[in-house]
Amino acid sequence: MLTGIHVAFIGGDARQLEVIKRCIQLDASVTLVGFDNLESNFTGATKRPLTCDVLKDVDALILPIVGTDDQGFVESIFCSKPLQLLDQHVESLPKHCVVYTGMAKTYLKNLLASKQIPLVELLDRDDVAIYNSIPTVEGALMMAIQNTDITIHGSQSIVLGLGRTGLSMARALHALGARVRVGARRQEHLARIYEMGLTPFPISELKQQVTNADFIFNTVPQLILTAEIIAQMPQSAFILDLASKPGGTDFRYAEKRGIKALLAPGLPGIVAPKTAGQILAQTLSRLIAEQRITRGEST
Ligand code: NAP
Repeated sequence: MLTGIHVAFIGGDARQLEVIKRCIQLDASVTLVGFDNLESNFTGATKRPLTCDVLKDVDALILPIVGTDDQGFVESIFCSKPLQLLDQHVESLPKHCVVYTGMAKTYLKNLLASKQIPLVELLDRDDVAIYNSIPTVEGALMMAIQNTDITIHGSQSIVLGLGRTGLSMARALHALGARVRVGARRQEHLARIYEMGLTPFPISELKQQVTNADFIFNTVPQLILTAEIIAQMPQSAFILDLASKPGGTDFRYAEKRGIKALLAPGLPGIVAPKTAGQILAQTLSRLIAEQRITRGEST
């Protein structure tokens, strides 16, 4: 339970609603900042404007997945007024407060570090990244189906990277009957791909591997599908780049060659906002409860 814990939310999207629901269910005291246009009224949560006073006794401050932009503006689909997290807001947080977000930009990192307020980036965590790979893969399959005229079953599918997303992607394609090859640079990853019954290849051989590809799913957050590699692909190949912006594909060259290549960021929030929110809610409620234990309080 989170009885006696004050959790404040600043901005967010549909995912945040699941987190708010969970915190209320666990008996936290909940303050919502930047939710003015939210229609469903959460009983047990108070809507407030962004002021220093609101933040002065907050134990956990929850920001949206993207945190803030480079000027401190926080996005909220539930509020039309701009929300800007400034120095004075962070200054007013108690020293024991922990700030949670998905991924923080330099502005937020510097702002919190200057006041010694701890920051937790949820998308950095293996557990969150692995759970998130489930809606990501479902979204990737949806896009592959929508953008091609062939089945995934029987296709020549290439996955680049065997990290948390690449592994789930490769496994789902295999289960659908695709002929799956996975490119990786670490020997243990190549061994794991083999163990999974898939075809491994070192990334250095990518140029030879793409000549008959139907689908290429990239999870490597580096420019890997260069013009030189794309030049070897059949024109019917479909590239779905899952890596964070700007992706790992030379999109300009792909377009020039007439190869369909799409960058697909933020799939969990797009295809399954409720599940994506529940993933965050589950992890956040545990972390906030642990935060209290670290401070020597019991539940
Ligand atoms: P991850 O676990 O770190 O996996 C990344 C993979 O890329 C690892 O296998 C890594 O190999 C490999 N890699 C990195 N640099 C490389 C290079 N220069 N050459 C060859 N391989 C390289 O990350 P993840 O959680 O799977 O996420 C992958 C990307 O997808 C990230 O950019 C993430 O932000 C993004 N993402 C997007 C969505 C979406 O909705 N589109 C959802 C979740 C994640 P090593 O282990 O050898 O370093």
